[in-house]
Amino acid sequence: MKYISTRGDRTLRGFSEILLEGLAPDGGLYLPTHYPKVDAATLARWRGLSYAELAFEVLSLYIDDIPGADLKRLVSSTYTEQVYGTKAITPLKKLEDGLYLEALSNGPTLAFKDMAMQLLGALFEYELGRRGESLNILGATSGDTGSAAEYAMRGKKGVKVFMLSPHGRMSPFQQAQMFSLQDPNIHNLAVEGVFDDCQDIVKAVSNDLEFKRRWKIGTVNSINWARLLAQVVYYFAGYFQATKTNDERVSFAVPSGNFGNICAGHVARLMGLPIRRLVLATNENNVLDEFFRTGTYRVRGGAETYETSSPSMDISKASNFERFVFDLLGRDAVRTKQLFQDELGAKGSFTLTPDEFARIADYGFVSGSSTHADRLATIRDTARRCGVVVDTHTADGLKVAREHREAGTPMIVLETALPAKFSATIVEALGREPERPAALVGIEQLPKRFKVMPVDVQAVKDYIAKNG
Ligand SMILES: *Cc1c(COP(=O)(O)O)cnc(C)c1O
Repeated sequence: MKYISTRGDRTLRGFSEILLEGLAPDGGLYLPTHYPKVDAATLARWRGLSYAELAFEVLSLYIDDIPGADLKRLVSSTYTEQVYGTKAITPLKKLEDGLYLEALSNGPTLAFKDMAMQLLGALFEYELGRRGESLNILGATSGDTGSAAEYAMRGKKGVKVFMLSPHGRMSPFQQAQMFSLQDPNIHNLAVEGVFDDCQDIVKAVSNDLEFKRRWKIGTVNSINWARLLAQVVYYFAGYFQATKTNDERVSFAVPSGNFGNICAGHVARLMGLPIRRLVLATNENNVLDEFFRTGTYRVRGGAETYETSSPSMDISKASNFERFVFDLLGRDAVRTKQLFQDELGAKGSFTLTPDEFARIADYGFVSGSSTHADRLATIRDTARRCGVVVDTHTADGLKVAREHREAGTPMIVLETALPAKFSATIVEALGREPERPAALVGIEQLPKRFKVMPVDVQAVKDYIAKNG
């Protein structure tokens, strides 16, 4: 299997070549040259597999430059009952007839990002070891991504993490999660500013190509193909749990921000997994809902990007979205580049032709959005009627899922975080604190390891130069 860029660079690259990369050199995103088709016999065989076995089968179709035995070892040490708490890894919880939650948030940081990031940690360590290289991962976080990256990379050989976060602005729980890590390869830099200041520093450091090369600066953001690929697996796992035979179809509802999670569903569907609908759910930041309803993709400025109670979906543009549009346009890289580089660059938006827009139906996508009031209502209603407490992001998914249910087709809502992570809104909805997994009780009391930094690019560079 080889990989190409969505913007026309046809250089064929192997999986290991793009594993440690971000964007393709032409500014596009990497995609495989084609999606391997899973035939009926294969699907039947996969139904009986454990999660790790299934992951190995799916990944093997896209990775041919890591020996099978090595890949198998990496996958089976990643997806364990010990880390995810259950044998199923992503068990299905029935809410009512035909409506399920797929639990993706039982990893170390209680959000679905662990599903991919844990594997990425293992793959990075493996590949860097094979090359005899090292990498300094630099990132900015307001919560979820940073903690998932740190828990994936802690103790990994050849990798150091420098994670910038806005000092004093994360929730006490999120701070405790990240800052209680004592691993010497994890560096928490608490910047005396807001999240945008952190992000600007990361950009400034990355734009200094000389510094970037010298200190081997890398990232783990959601455009990484390996992360997306790891997420394809749980669509298969969810399907097998919700159905008895492979003649049945299911729909998935996905709380979406950067379009990484649902893009994995799109890939699974094109591989032949019997998915009827992919239901995209946004919060008040409805860039993607607007696109799927109107064919216009309009990125938002800072003033139009709202801080909501499902903060991990507060995005102004969706960094993975170009992958789907490339497929939608019949993999026309010239047109993709025109839309994402020329039009988006010049006016901050683009609109599909009616012909292009009509094709969306063939890809199964529908969408909807929700508000803070909707989240509260969904959390209350789900607790009362189903006895299950969902987090605010999952509530966005569930609200939109209910609008798109069809008789006879099971609907699987992806649970993207546990309620314990967003307790303030749970208290607002239910008047009580959400349950916290036993292992995390009292983590606020653990000793914290972090360094306070001014909003100063040079200070961050100096820190990396000293510790990288
Ligand atoms: C990251 C995240 C999302 C959004 O996922 P995308 O892949 O960016 O669409 C939704 N919910 C939670 C809890 C997240 O952490």
